[in-house]
Amino acid sequence: MLNIVLYGEPILIQKAQKVKEFDQNLERLTLDMYEAMKHDNGIGLAAPQVGISARLFVVGLENEPPRIFINPRIVAMSEESSEYEEGCLSFPGLYFTVARPSAVDIEAVDIRGRPFRLSADGLLARVIQHEYDHLDGILFIDRVSPAKRRRALAHYSRMLNM
Ligand SMILES: [Zn+2]
Repeated sequence: MLNIVLYGEPILIQKAQKVKEFDQNLERLTLDMYEAMKHDNGIGLAAPQVGISARLFVVGLENEPPRIFINPRIVAMSEESSEYEEGCLSFPGLYFTVARPSAVDIEAVDIRGRPFRLSADGLLARVIQHEYDHLDGILFIDRVSPAKRRRALAHYSRMLNM
């Protein structure tokens, strides 16, 4: 089972490398990531969260097939935004409300390197944006006001010391 890296590890705040090899190792990695995500009851997981600098993430919403996004690009966002309580497997136990665009269009390639485009709204759009941020070293605590960020981190470090 892949280990999920927690906040504090430098890889979580670095920009991930583009995926270039579409081979069995990539397939294995995505399967292992999916398994680790499900094991921790997550709905999305990005490669930097398992210590690998690669621009890819997996999404697993309830009652939906697994989705894999490799070398993704968000190409459009709705002007309308919405708020939702997010968590992150790299911050176990920390949840807070984050505002993000309600809908996005994303382009990516699949496990064989074949391009696809997807329009997403609702929870899927939410997860896509959260995971996409991980590929650029951006964390959900970076998407709130500095005051809220400080409160969230203070709460998180208290929780870790419990
Ligand atoms: Zn996350």
